[in-house]
Amino acid sequence: MRLSRYFLPVLKETPSEAQIVSHRYMLRAGMIKQASAGIYSWLPLGFKVLRKIENIIHEEQARAGHIPMLMPTIQSADLWRESGRYDAYGAEMLRITDRHDRDMLFTPTAEELITDIFRANVSSYRDLPLTMYQIQWKFRDEIRPRFGVMRGREFYMKDGYNFDLTKEDALHAYNRHLVSYLRTYERMGLQAIPMRADSGPIGGDDTHEFLVLAETGESEVFYDSEITELKFGDREIDYDSVEQCQAVLEEFTSRYARTDETHDEALFDQVPEERRRTARGIEVGQIFYFGTKYSEAMGATVSDKDGNQVPVHMGSHGIGVSRLLGAIIEASHDDRGIIWPEGVTPFHCGIVNLKTGDAEAEAACDKIHAALIALGLDPLYDDTNERAGAKFATMDLIGLPWRITVGPRGLKNGVVELTSRRTGESEELPPEAAVAKIAEIYGVA
Ligand code: ATP
Ligand code: MG
Repeated sequence: MRLSRYFLPVLKETPSEAQIVSHRYMLRAGMIKQASAGIYSWLPLGFKVLRKIENIIHEEQARAGHIPMLMPTIQSADLWRESGRYDAYGAEMLRITDRHDRDMLFTPTAEELITDIFRANVSSYRDLPLTMYQIQWKFRDEIRPRFGVMRGREFYMKDGYNFDLTKEDALHAYNRHLVSYLRTYERMGLQAIPMRADSGPIGGDDTHEFLVLAETGESEVFYDSEITELKFGDREIDYDSVEQCQAVLEEFTSRYARTDETHDEALFDQVPEERRRTARGIEVGQIFYFGTKYSEAMGATVSDKDGNQVPVHMGSHGIGVSRLLGAIIEASHDDRGIIWPEGVTPFHCGIVNLKTGDAEAEAACDKIHAALIALGLDPLYDDTNERAGAKFATMDLIGLPWRITVGPRGLKNGVVELTSRRTGESEELPPEAAVAKIAEIYGVA
């Protein structure tokens, strides 16, 4: 993509309404624009990262055997009256009346809707287990929307729901989600720690939240520092294996890690003092097992092996897709801007032409640009007339992990410069070698 043909409305000034770094950089890098309080338009650069995050989630859900689908954003109040949540949900629910005076609402979550789909179509234990999910816009009329996409009113969320015959099966689904979420966040360059949490309005007994440690996080967290040394890495796992999923769950949840909602001072004191940490965290996901809460209220039953009608065991599982952009930036930035992890970067690398108008430099940039595209990569080529300093500042702000800098002086010696955004280290090498190195980094060589 040539920058001269792209839409990247970067801001020089720091917007005064933004209190935390991720919000500031998302506005300055032209990723989002507020439409009204807690509601944002996703400009091209922000939209690209949103799509990358979404794709990682889809890939990891597929790996775990979960089925994608899509439900509407507007629901009828009737289903929520059946579950008893219409009145219980409170002021966070955006309630709408249609022209026929019917009560509707903008979906804050979808347990009722999916349970309705299930009960209309599934009647036998033979059709279980079943896990379906969607990535869809949600609305919660938050009392204090703030920090940009971190606490929006409209936000993008992955929500998944499992249906199982027995509690054991449903707990396996729970464990499977925990494992797949660990992989999902790591692919985004994040360490998200599963912590014992409180279930809130979703209900249920078993629940873990995934937290990214960051000073600006809204949750207070308490943990054993050993937990930050755990890595899921690229280990192969059989998601159908109860033992394997259980083992991962135990490995990642046996050490003390809790949010303030469930914190237990006496238990925490048993952690050796030098490993006790109190910090702040951003909740980027949560998993729940809630048994037959919705299936009993809404009559979602199946016939078991003996022909008895039994309510199914359920759980639900959420990832804050739009919040993740903020969380990733909070975890990965410096005073010049964002530093995208390679897994979610909007463009794979930047190309900066130091001397627009110089025929040789332009030809070299065009060639590098075309070579990267031919490899299936997505570079951003700054072909504008800005001064070199301004071009570097924009590249640093928008956070592309790699930059190839091309200028007449280097070209005389047959070299360009390849710079890492994270370390700031540069090396000079021939244009073809720079392209090869980028290809290797992204595994397309
Ligand atoms: P919170 O405690 O932050 O209000 P929650 O526990 O009510 O969140 P869940 O119902 O668990 O939220 O939703 C799943 C995920 O959706 C959360 O882990 C979070 O990452 C994200 N999320 C929830 N509310 C918002 C919001 N207002 N803006 C952006 N993301 C949100
Ligand atoms: Mg939650």
